[in-house]
Amino acid sequence: MSLALARKYRPKTFADVAVQSHVAATLKGAIALGRVAHAYLLCGPRGVGKTTLARVLAMALNCERRGDPALGGEPCGECASCRRIWSGASSLDVVEIDAASNRGVDDARELRERAMYAPSGDDRYKVYIVDEAHMLTREAWNALLKILEEPPPRVVFVFATTEPQKIAQSAAPVLSRVQRFDFKRIGPADIRARLERVLREEQVEANADALAMIARAADGSMRDALSLTDQVLAMGEGAIVPDRVRDALGLVAEDEFIAVLDLVAEHRAGDVFAVVARLADAGIDFGQFLTGFGDMVRALLAVTLGGKPPEVSERARAALEERKTAFTAGDLLRMLSIATELEPRFRKSSQQQLLLEAMLVRFALLDRTVSLEAVLRGLAGGPSGGADEPSIGPSSPRRASPPDAGSPPRNAERPRSDTPATDWRAVIRDADRAPAASTTPPSRAEPGVPAATASSSPQRSVESPRSARGETVSQALAGAPDLNHLVERWDDVVAVMRAAGKSVAATALEHAAPAAVNARGDVTLALDEANPIYEQAIETVKADLVSALRQWFPGVQRLLVRTPEGATTPPTRLTDEMVRSERIAVLRRKDPVLDAAIDALDLDLAD
Ligand SMILES: [Zn+2]
Repeated sequence: MSLALARKYRPKTFADVAVQSHVAATLKGAIALGRVAHAYLLCGPRGVGKTTLARVLAMALNCERRGDPALGGEPCGECASCRRIWSGASSLDVVEIDAASNRGVDDARELRERAMYAPSGDDRYKVYIVDEAHMLTREAWNALLKILEEPPPRVVFVFATTEPQKIAQSAAPVLSRVQRFDFKRIGPADIRARLERVLREEQVEANADALAMIARAADGSMRDALSLTDQVLAMGEGAIVPDRVRDALGLVAEDEFIAVLDLVAEHRAGDVFAVVARLADAGIDFGQFLTGFGDMVRALLAVTLGGKPPEVSERARAALEERKTAFTAGDLLRMLSIATELEPRFRKSSQQQLLLEAMLVRFALLDRTVSLEAVLRGLAGGPSGGADEPSIGPSSPRRASPPDAGSPPRNAERPRSDTPATDWRAVIRDADRAPAASTTPPSRAEPGVPAATASSSPQRSVESPRSARGETVSQALAGAPDLNHLVERWDDVVAVMRAAGKSVAATALEHAAPAAVNARGDVTLALDEANPIYEQAIETVKADLVSALRQWFPGVQRLLVRTPEGATTPPTRLTDEMVRSERIAVLRRKDPVLDAAIDALDLDLAD
């Protein structure tokens, strides 16, 4: 294959332009009726056919058979002019300009001068295709506006942009002089259908699941889908099968997502760290993992609700069917909303692994939140848990199993599954001697908070929308902030500090993120490197920082700063609770005993 697929199969007619038929039909009609506008603005995501359609328009306007009623406004695709324009060979009458590289006023002036020249023949049109038009400067737009006010005959401008709102900001008057079309994102089904056609032409066999994977990875862009297919074809021979796609594109195997779902379903929070470490070792992009995992949770939600997820392989669909009772729809919705909220922050974070671990631990403990609430309610003298909740009375020596009866017993297949309950205290004692942990797995990092103080973290109640009766507890706990919300707001807090002129501190704070929060509202920041300058800088603005945080989280009391391994914060700044949660953090890092620590929490609750 000498030509890239995207080039080789570039549409030659309006009818060929996938999905954008609403635009193509209008343009075709305009040409058939001889009512072509002087300027068009084509808006839409990348790779959906904007410049392709602009070229087809240029072909149709300059086709040697234009006006032939049999064509109905389409280009013939065969004449010398059509072929030249289609192939991108230099044509006097079609000028393509990439505004991203020619954005200055000089180019606009040149454009204006050139536009003054008539097309090369009486029956021809001069078509300017300006790609990435939002990159043009205000001055360039002003120059263009003059042309558009008095357009020369048979000159057509086509502006293509992914960001029309920027044009509205810098060149609003232009918008009233162009005919605007909005292009649709291309759905996976349309991408698959096109790939099937192209590969049939290429006489390459392709498995439906494999094409679905490419379509998903292309994320709405036909151009990307075709170049990803090029990439797959370049690696290996024969039929296109899922393994080949995965290897060529470096995708995360669906099995990985299923395995993580199982881990969450079985409450194996301690296994999160090993799994994430393995993904890191395999060089998996965490951002891609988060997106893919979100897709899988959405697919499971569809299955759980009795629907059919369209965008997963048959194999994954079967695997999800087997797990349709593992989660309630409410659990899945909560997981989806947590993952969605995390995403924007995640992309920019330098601590993706930590954030991913925190999220998965949080998922794995979702059911526990309900159990804990039941306990708290019991302590508060309210009615005990409802029928759909595990009944854990304050007097139970050990907590009951999680409510999903379908999952295997906890601690099954785990190294220290035989650890007796009474050993937890020894585990905690041993942890006393361990050095302070460098990383506290955030969301449940404060399980050491004794329930008797009942001022326990509000996350638990916030995350337990299932029970209306938890309200009194929720209200009582409404003070302290939720770690995830803190993490999401962190950029804003840093921006406030920067705006207040604390730029050194703001820079230091960009190297930190909230890693834990306890019931009293003490927030622990984790620095991503042991840097005394950062530490010092944060130290000097602590009071301001607390005020900034309180704008969003009135419950914030104090700030603690934690540095990575090698540097420790002075113990005087740690409360007993913090020491406890650090201890638990050490345990969590030591994967095999993690659940033991969590069980220890429940023992404490019961005491
Ligand atoms: Zn033609």
